[in-house]
Amino acid sequence: MLKEKEGKYNRMLSIRDLPLTGKRVLIRVDLNVPLNEEGIADDSRLRAIVPTVQYARSQGGRVILMSHLGRPEGRYEPHLSLRPCAAHLSTLLGIPVSLAPDCCGPITQEIVAALKPGEVLLLENLRFHLGEEEPEREPTFAPQLAALGDLYIQEAFGAMHRAHASITEITHFFPGKAAIGFLVEREIAYLDEVLHTPRRPLHALLGGAKVSTKFKVIQTLLAKADVVLIGGAMAHTFFLAQGIPMGDSLVENRFMESARALLEMPVARDKLLLPVDLVVTNAAHEIRTISIEEGVPIGYRSVDIGPRTIKYYGEVLQSAATLFWNGPLGLFETPPFNRGTEAIAHLIARLPHATTIVGGGDSLAAVHQAGVADRFTHLSTGGGASLEYIEQGHLPGLDALSH
Ligand code: ADP
Ligand code: MG
Repeated sequence: MLKEKEGKYNRMLSIRDLPLTGKRVLIRVDLNVPLNEEGIADDSRLRAIVPTVQYARSQGGRVILMSHLGRPEGRYEPHLSLRPCAAHLSTLLGIPVSLAPDCCGPITQEIVAALKPGEVLLLENLRFHLGEEEPEREPTFAPQLAALGDLYIQEAFGAMHRAHASITEITHFFPGKAAIGFLVEREIAYLDEVLHTPRRPLHALLGGAKVSTKFKVIQTLLAKADVVLIGGAMAHTFFLAQGIPMGDSLVENRFMESARALLEMPVARDKLLLPVDLVVTNAAHEIRTISIEEGVPIGYRSVDIGPRTIKYYGEVLQSAATLFWNGPLGLFETPPFNRGTEAIAHLIARLPHATTIVGGGDSLAAVHQAGVADRFTHLSTGGGASLEYIEQGHLPGLDALSH
């Protein structure tokens, strides 16, 4: 699909294009999973790579998986070991998955050399080495990783916006032997649909905490989409820019001027929708609904979209043929301030014919919390990567595969 649509990625290979039999298939995956006291809090990213791993095994490949986890910043941190991921992958794949004690070095090389066709090895956290995030400071790191594989597969969609050793540098060592896996192919295909060939009308629903991190995405989507609906704390800065008091709500004063300029653009007047009411709360935990004309009273902060906004957005969304959603519409982690997000999630889940795509760590958590995850067309495993792809139209990890 990619090949036909995007001229830029014409020469990008798919895992299907490479003969895997007997080869050491080095696969960059994204196992940067959320952890809690009991271990892996959400295994979506592990499940997402299973088809590619099973395919490589079925072709007789010797599978070597590599990933980062958290931010150990070049040091060994026992609590950021990928051991729990190896154990859980064993369960998902139905075969033992061993963990190499390091992602490079002589011991790892020996373990890799002993790997048989169909077997799966997981390398220890790439970020235990400084060279992963800062390839220029440890130039020998990428070649060491590259030496472990005959072929390279990019399957770490959630990390493809990072120019790290295992994402970009490493591809230089695999001319004609680097390809994307099934997950990356699917992620890009859905985002390409949003960007280039959406069934219209295309609706974008954007929420979350900060307007600053998503300002460019709002601009891009205003150009591409037919309607852009804003919710969450990012709406506050837009209100402030219109002179509406926001009380103690989360706002970004620095972005007020940009927000004002954006609101004055004709395209924003045509397409940008803001909430018409908000749920607010104060230090005494009193909860009120206010209309936007009133503004947020002193001592109160806005924590959710109000019932009139839920109804209004609900009606607007009915006409969507394609919907891209990123960012919760309120403080969804703290019920009852999940009401707006949950109501809208249910409503989207019931849209009969729309292609619905949701991305973002917190957005996915919200959709799972609402119990409607399986009713969406596509749940993106990469929040930052999906936003950057929409914003810029390309990703470092894709560019590295298509020179
Ligand atoms: P994602 O991870 O899906 O990209 P973000 O990280 O941008 O989403 O934003 C999610 C965060 O935004 C959540 O922690 C949520 O509580 C917060 N948020 C949304 N609306 C509000 C609000 N009105 N006030 C405070 N925080 C909010
Ligand atoms: Mg987030």
